[in-house]
Amino acid sequence: MKSFRYLPGVSTLSLDAAACVGCGMCEMVCPHGVLKIDQRKAAVVDADGCMECGACATNCPVHAISVTPGVGCAAYIIQTWIRGKEAATCGGGACC
Ligand code: SF4
Ligand code: SF4
Repeated sequence: MKSFRYLPGVSTLSLDAAACVGCGMCEMVCPHGVLKIDQRKAAVVDADGCMECGACATNCPVHAISVTPGVGCAAYIIQTWIRGKEAATCGGGACC
C-alpha cells in the first residue's frame, strides 16, 4: 500500500533474513505490503509503509521479525510529548 505512510525512517521493523525459512506468513498477514518473499526469503520492500502492527512478528514461526508496536505511530509520539513516555499509549485508531 504505497499510499499509506507513517513518519519516514522511524519504523522499528527488523528482519533476520538468515533465520527466515520463507514460509510466506509475514507477506500474507501484512496489511501494507511491507514484506515480500523473494527467492524463498522474506525481504522488506517498503519499510516506511510499516505501521508497526506486529502481525508479521506474531505470525513468524522462527521469530525472524522484530518490531516494537507503536514506536512509529504518530498518535503515540504526540502522546509522549504531552503526557510523557510512561503515560503514552497507542491511540487505538484505524491503524491498530
Ligand atoms: S508490523 Fe504490521 S505493517 Fe509492519 S511489516 Fe509487520 S505486518 Fe506489516
Ligand atoms: S514469517 Fe518469518 S519465516 Fe516466514 S517468510 Fe516471514 S520472516 Fe520468513
